Amino acid sequence: MKLLEERILRDGVVKPGNVLKVDNFLNHQLDVRFLDEVGKEFYRLFSDVRVDKIMTIETSGIAVAMAAARYFDVPVVFAKKTQSLNIDGEVYKTKIHSFTHNRTYDVIMSGKYLHKDEHILIIDDFLANGCAAEGLISLICDAGAKVEGVGIVIEKGHQEGGKRLRERGIRLESLAIVDAMNAETGEITFREQ
Ligand code: 5GP
Repeated sequence: MKLLEERILRDGVVKPGNVLKVDNFLNHQLDVRFLDEVGKEFYRLFSDVRVDKIMTIETSGIAVAMAAARYFDVPVVFAKKTQSLNIDGEVYKTKIHSFTHNRTYDVIMSGKYLHKDEHILIIDDFLANGCAAEGLISLICDAGAKVEGVGIVIEKGHQEGGKRLRERGIRLESLAIVDAMNAETGEITFREQ
């Protein structure tokens, strides 16, 4: 997505530790009009599949999942990283290692919002090693629902997540793939798509 690549080049900051900061439009301040374009693009890419619900993980996936859900006209459900006493009934659980915080979270999802035979599209802001996406896939499989695909705003192609998901036969659509980035020069190289 050209618009996204231009925005990353304009506003993205490469940090040591292989982290790309896009705080002024995606991860802290939200450019709602821009996110709407992102949502529209996910709708275009996944228009050939049945999507009953969009699933993401708190916090940074929520805004982009909502932008896409407006176009699909389906609900968004997000997996929670903290134990919540307010969830009763059946609960699906998994563990996800966070790349940016370097810690492992217990992640939970109420069985009330994830049903057998539902067709789910996973949406997230970044794909690095793929732990978040794989955790969401395992929650969906535990519920007996079907993963239709994974939509990512920024895939870091030099990390393993994309390769792992594609090798598993999961349909993955990334709006921008960063193949290299340099924290010293700030240079960012995109994969031709
Ligand atoms: P993964 O689970 O694929 O290793 O990492 C994906 C998650 O980590 C995303 O949900 C995102 O929140 C966060 N993340 C991974 N890499 C980056 C990055 O370079 N920049 C930002 N802002 N978040 C990242």
